[in-house]
Amino acid sequence: MAKPFVRYYVGDIVKMKKTHPCGSDTWEVKRIGTDFSIVCQGCGRQVLIARPKFEKNVKKLLSRQANVEKEPQVKPET
Ligand SMILES: [Zn+2]
Repeated sequence: MAKPFVRYYVGDIVKMKKTHPCGSDTWEVKRIGTDFSIVCQGCGRQVLIARPKFEKNVKKLLSRQANVEKEPQVKPET
């Protein structure tokens, strides 16, 4: 069963399968690349995690900044 492809953005708040030692399981995405940089919402600790590991560990996307899905409003000059 194929999982639908999910694109993540900086600013996304995600719930992870694994709980951080501080007790929080929500993280904010800070940087996206080969490795994702995520910040624990419980204690503020920043962690680097490889993309496949991140995608595997995300349980749920909790919130997303409203503006990320919008296309940049760039009009070509003619
Ligand atoms: Zn924590």
